[in-house]
Amino acid sequence: MTRVYNFSAGPAALPEAVLERARSELLDYAGTGMSVMEMSHRSAAFIDIASRAEADLRELLAIPDDYKVLFLQGGATGQFAAVPMNLCESGDTASYVNSGYWSKKAIVEARRYVQVSIAASSEATGFTHVPSERDWEVVANASYVHVTPNETIGGVAYDFVPDTGAAPLVADYSSSILSAPLDVSRFGVIYAGAQKNIGPAGLTLVIVRDDLLGRARSDTPAMLDWKVAADADSMYNTPPTFAWYLAGLVFRWLKDLGGLAAMAEINRQKATTLYGAIDASNFYASPVAEANRSWMNVPFTLADPALDGDFLKQAEARGLTNLKGHRSVGGMRASLYNAVTQEAVDALVTFMQDFERQHA
Ligand SMILES: *Cc1c(COP(=O)(O)O)cnc(C)c1O
Repeated sequence: MTRVYNFSAGPAALPEAVLERARSELLDYAGTGMSVMEMSHRSAAFIDIASRAEADLRELLAIPDDYKVLFLQGGATGQFAAVPMNLCESGDTASYVNSGYWSKKAIVEARRYVQVSIAASSEATGFTHVPSERDWEVVANASYVHVTPNETIGGVAYDFVPDTGAAPLVADYSSSILSAPLDVSRFGVIYAGAQKNIGPAGLTLVIVRDDLLGRARSDTPAMLDWKVAADADSMYNTPPTFAWYLAGLVFRWLKDLGGLAAMAEINRQKATTLYGAIDASNFYASPVAEANRSWMNVPFTLADPALDGDFLKQAEARGLTNLKGHRSVGGMRASLYNAVTQEAVDALVTFMQDFERQHA
């Protein structure tokens, strides 16, 4: 068996120990004689898996008791609609910060349900920094303020948690949740698709403060209504059981590693290694403002874009995969999620230096 160094932006690498564990339990989970995939979500075995996953996540993120944790489907994209539907009446206004590709997608979807006011945007400068909080214009009576703390495609990350006063702060944390400790109490709602840093695709996590439940507009589909999900312990319908189980294994892996502070230190080191190599060279460049460089998604360009194809081909030959930048940005992107090891980053940097020497 050969496993590659996988820098995919998502679905992304999973910890090898988690995959091994899942393999060892695949046909017979804990003496039940069946796979987790084959068991009822109402069975004692699965209820135990589900509640243990929630408890471990609560411990990892130190989630306060007045927040619900929901294990849903529909992806972060589903939440682009769920957020306005759960928090607004149709005439209300919500403020959005436009910091990149995913912010824009959230804005386009929200416009179907609420008045959207753009509090700040970095679009004019190509989404290479986070708009400074000093320049935000949040409308009075905003139902909420929506941010994207890590823009997966632009590789742009917030270096602050904004203060939005009475308006609940809503954050799409799809690509950086669990990469470092996070003060959940600063947020009204945190949501994330699982396939970057949590587990396999098909699971969507929502962490929502209790007082924000029960306000959904009356035409909200039951499947998008957080209160419906909360009242049913995320089992209003059949949940994505296997993805939930795997997420639980990832949470336990993080706990065994020492929790999110330990994970953050590893991630900081990985990012420092790669950005350091980019900055030390005149051949590679990062387009992102230094203060907003993401630890999770690192876009970079080659001095001559005509070499991109050759770079990717040679990288692939060394087992360094999924380095092509998003079509909207071009160049390269290395995603360094939790499961990507320092060894993988070191292998990438060694290759980058070799490639540069070839073309010096
Ligand atoms: C991947 C991603 C999404 C889309 O997630 P889906 O689960 O595919 O809907 C949304 N926002 C961010 C920040 C992402 O990284």
